[in-house]
Amino acid sequence: MADGKYSGFLVSGISLPPDANEQEACDIAASDLKRAGVDPARIRFSIYKRSVDARKRNDIRLVYSVAAKLDSPRSVSLAESRAKHRISPLVDGELKVVCGSRPMSAPPVVVGMGPAGLFGALLLAENGYAPIIIDRGDNVTDRSAAYERFKKFGLLDVDSNIQFGAGGAGTFSDGKLLTRINDEKIGYVLQRFCDFGAPEEILVAAKPHVGTDLLLGIVDKMLSRIEELGGKVMYRTRMDGIRELADGNIALETTSGEIVASSVLMAVGHSARDTYKMLLENGFMIEAKSFSVGVRVEHLREDIDRALYGDMAGHEKLGKGEYHLSDTSSGRGVYTFCMCPGGEVVAAASEEGGVVVNGMSYNARDGINSNSAVAVSVFKNDYDGTPMGAINFQRSIEKAAFEAGGADYSAPMQTVASFLGRSDKNEIGRIMPTYRDGKVGLCALDTVLPAFICDELRRGLLSFDRKLSGFACDDAILTGVETRTSAPVRILRTDELRALGKGRIYPCGEGAGYAGGITSAAIDGLRVALKIMEEFAPERP
Ligand SMILES: Cc1cc2nc3c(=O)[nH]c(=O)nc-3n(C[C@H](O)[C@H](O)[C@H](O)COP(=O)(O)OP(=O)(O)OC[C@H]3O[C@@H](n4cnc5c(N)ncnc54)[C@H](O)[C@@H]3O)c2cc1C
Repeated sequence: MADGKYSGFLVSGISLPPDANEQEACDIAASDLKRAGVDPARIRFSIYKRSVDARKRNDIRLVYSVAAKLDSPRSVSLAESRAKHRISPLVDGELKVVCGSRPMSAPPVVVGMGPAGLFGALLLAENGYAPIIIDRGDNVTDRSAAYERFKKFGLLDVDSNIQFGAGGAGTFSDGKLLTRINDEKIGYVLQRFCDFGAPEEILVAAKPHVGTDLLLGIVDKMLSRIEELGGKVMYRTRMDGIRELADGNIALETTSGEIVASSVLMAVGHSARDTYKMLLENGFMIEAKSFSVGVRVEHLREDIDRALYGDMAGHEKLGKGEYHLSDTSSGRGVYTFCMCPGGEVVAAASEEGGVVVNGMSYNARDGINSNSAVAVSVFKNDYDGTPMGAINFQRSIEKAAFEAGGADYSAPMQTVASFLGRSDKNEIGRIMPTYRDGKVGLCALDTVLPAFICDELRRGLLSFDRKLSGFACDDAILTGVETRTSAPVRILRTDELRALGKGRIYPCGEGAGYAGGITSAAIDGLRVALKIMEEFAPERP
């Protein structure tokens, strides 16, 4: 770390047994700083991050990063010490907003109330831009009711479901906020979740999660805040057309009539297939990209916790067991994805005649089962390499799943023993399927998924079983199909984040191919909102 003036430090890699008091971590940080020549007097110490290190099952540790905030910025040159490598500058996640001076002749419009749209619209509203935010789906209450009708009775609402509606795809989810991107805005996003009701624990946990039960309220409050600040929130409003006007503004053709916008933050998610088609027909440059397809695997949560933590399973500081497994030795790649400890498999379809699964859990993660996707990479040469080819590849598998499940939105299901050919029986054992409270159709998944995917799944299950004992136990269950792991296409945009060859239209978030997950989508929404504000003056100071 270079010499210079700092307002704080991060002391990382402090490893302690789970029963240790967190004050011990702060004391170690203080002595590290002292040895590095920084007087710990007048420094406020706090736990910055806490993660679980379960690599050695008989010696599970908690690893801390401690924030050391100085009462005032101080010049520091760290002396040579063993601790020096653990010390780094503390970065404040402050968002730097620059507002332009050009008056808007129409409001900015945000299409999509997922994390990208929501965080973008909230930032615009909080800075006086009074945005309009639209979504094809319902508010959280009506959307929850629509999902319950689908779960219980198989009545699918194609515009209000697990993929579509207030909060977007991630609302009915485990609400994991972990992201692989490295961006200073992560802290800002986590803090905003707390401002609207998420537990402060998410600021410290290395793998933060919120849970569906809290996410619904958070989304609702964020949308109310946008309205309080002069924004307009429009539900059941689907964008069906988009064109540039001579004056540079944008006209949106919607199910609630035409809306004119000064700029459009377009964050429609990875399941808006009709919208992708409309954009292609309107000359937007869209390319196919790699994505993954697979199934959801379910185990008993206590078995997973024990496999990960041994006798320490259930320790309150360890939380529910989370795994992330992958194997790329075949060159294609199979990995677990979006693991939901103590969660359930959800019915994530958004099109008639198609079955799709995903996972969710509540904040407590106290369900009997734990589940995750086991997904296999799909490359462009596995289909015709075109955007609609990618979508039709997903769609054909979803339709096959619908038929194999019983053509009533029951999901196709097979036990691991049967799938691996260890048994010719496909019978449910200790582990009960959670999809739609058990509405599954027992069948061979080879009748639903392409052979290359089944082969890779088989290889993956056995490989993961060597890494996590019991992963491929006979009565673990596989429910199909997980096809919406990420966007199958990318909407090309410039460095200014505008759609190629299009005026002030900003493709954004997961659906545009620039994010994967709640936090990275929210950050992409913030990026676009900052771009819009750089150009225009706020409507209200
Ligand atoms: C069940 C489930 C669980 C998940 N769990 C997690 C998790 O735990 N952690 C995590 O990081 N990620 C999770 N994800 C992924 C995460 O939800 C997405 O990456 C994220 O929501 C993408 O955000 P987005 O704003 O780009 O798009 P989305 O959230 O997909 O939002 C797009 C919105 O646009 C709207 N829309 C689409 N077309 C139109 C149109 N034509 N007109 C108007 N509105 C339109 C849709 O109704 C939708 O509300 C999960 C996804 C699902 C489905």
